[in-house]
Amino acid sequence: MPPTLRLVPFDPATAPAGERRERLVALLRDMENVHPCPLVSTRTRLVFGAGNANADLMFVGEAPGASEDRAGLPFVGRAGKFLDTLLEEVGLARSDTFITNVLKCRPPGNRDPHPDEIDACRPYLYDQVTLIRPRVICTLGNFATKLLTGRPEGITKVHGRPQEREVGGVPVRLYPIFHPAAALRTPAVAELTREDFRRLPALLAHRPDGPGAAGSELPHA
Ligand code: URA
Repeated sequence: MPPTLRLVPFDPATAPAGERRERLVALLRDMENVHPCPLVSTRTRLVFGAGNANADLMFVGEAPGASEDRAGLPFVGRAGKFLDTLLEEVGLARSDTFITNVLKCRPPGNRDPHPDEIDACRPYLYDQVTLIRPRVICTLGNFATKLLTGRPEGITKVHGRPQEREVGGVPVRLYPIFHPAAALRTPAVAELTREDFRRLPALLAHRPDGPGAAGSELPHA
């Protein structure tokens, strides 16, 4: 009998993409079976996340809404369509990225996530980062930004400013951006969000250990 995935020695930092993807699928199956979140009883479907399991760019939103809860996929409603537009405008596609949320289950009536729900989901988000190993994580809105920066400053203050962090043992550049739903509500926020998106390609091209990188400044607002 082949050994289970858990018994195979595994170092995510050196494992090939195919092996990391298998582990990501195993994490999804784990979550489907035993996800200790209070929202399991009210959600329709788990929204684990979707996209390229070896993406350089990852988006972390807040929580699934009604459309996502029905589809089992992140950002498929109006905010998701706007996210697609923002990506296209800078020459990127959703399929280049991995998209997930802080919470993997919809809070009833789309209320704000509660601390115990965030605590229940946090290890899974970190495991996703450990396995996907993105170089840039865009945190969309306040909840994802405060969780992953570990700081209290809100999105209005920190949007468009890259921050070096370690998440799930992976050195990443966090890039906080307004939530697309907030941008849809307020044209001035949409304009700021477009400006922040325009810096994404340069941020993705920047290699901390690449030629000429020593002492080089990251693009910032
Ligand atoms: N808003 C979010 O934060 N996440 C989704 O998946 C959809 C809307």
